Amino acid sequence: MSNKYVGAHVSASGGVFNAPLNAMAIGAKAFALFTKNQKQWAAKPLDDETIGLFKDNLAKSGILPKHVLPHDSYLINLGHPEEDKRQKSLEAFIDETRRCMQLGLDRLNFHPGSHLKQISEEECIERIASSMNETLSVTNGVTLVIENTAGQGSNLGWRFEHLSAIIERIEDKSRVGVCIDTCHMFTAGYDIRTRAAYDATWKEFDTIVGFKYLKGMHINDSKPDLGSHVDRHDSIGKGKIGVEPFGFIMNDPRMDDIPLVLETIDETIWAQEIALLYSLQR
Ligand SMILES: [Zn+2]
Ligand SMILES: [Zn+2]
Repeated sequence: MSNKYVGAHVSASGGVFNAPLNAMAIGAKAFALFTKNQKQWAAKPLDDETIGLFKDNLAKSGILPKHVLPHDSYLINLGHPEEDKRQKSLEAFIDETRRCMQLGLDRLNFHPGSHLKQISEEECIERIASSMNETLSVTNGVTLVIENTAGQGSNLGWRFEHLSAIIERIEDKSRVGVCIDTCHMFTAGYDIRTRAAYDATWKEFDTIVGFKYLKGMHINDSKPDLGSHVDRHDSIGKGKIGVEPFGFIMNDPRMDDIPLVLETIDETIWAQEIALLYSLQR
C-alpha cells in the first residue's frame, strides 16, 4: 500500500478537461496543470461545460482534487516594485485562484516574486504577502502554495527564511502552504544527496518553515550543481542529484498524501519515471 501520489505537470492543451486524461495515460496518481495559457495575461473565463467535463474526467481518473496542484502564469509577480504592475499581477492571480475554485481544486502553486533589484528583499516580501492577503480576502476554499525557487536573478523564495517570512505575514494561515521543488532546493544550496544531508536539510526546513505547510512537491533532478542558483531541471537519475535521494522521498512519511509532481524535461519518459519512483518504495 502506497501513500505517495506521484504524477507530472501534464498538458491541458485543447482544454483543462484533457489534463486528467493525460495524467491517467501515464499512470499518474497526481498532476499539475495550467488552467490558462501561462504566457498570456488574458484568459477566457471557464464555462460550465468545460468545468463539468473537467470534473467528470477527474472522477474517471480516480485522482482526488487535493492531489492536483495547478501552477499559475509565469508573468505574475506579486512582489513587483511598481504598484501598477503589482496590481496587474494581483488581478491575474485572483482570477487564477477563482479558476481553481470553479474547477473544485483546493490549492494553487505560484512563484513568490522578484524584487528586480529595485526594492529590498523585505519590501518585496511585504508586497507578496499583502497581495496574498488581498487574494485570500476575496476568494475561498483555495490554499496559496508558495514554491521555493533556485534564486535565479532577483527571484525571492530560495531560502527557507523567505518562505517563513511570507507565511508570518499571512492573516489566514489555514490557507497558505509551500511546494518544495527538489531541483530549486538543490541549486539554492540545500543538499539532499546523502542520507545525512537529506535529514539535515529537512530538519532545517521543519524548524524554519514547518512540515504542516508542505502542500506539494516538484520532483526534479538538476542539471546545474549545488548552490549554482540556476534553474534547469533534468530527468530523474540523469542530473546532479541522482536517483537515491528520490528513494528517500518515496519512503518518507512526511511526503505522504500530497501531490508529488514531475516537471522533468523529457515528457516521453514520464510514465517510466513514475514507475521508477514507485519502485524505490520499500
Ligand atoms: Zn514552478
Ligand atoms: Zn517547480
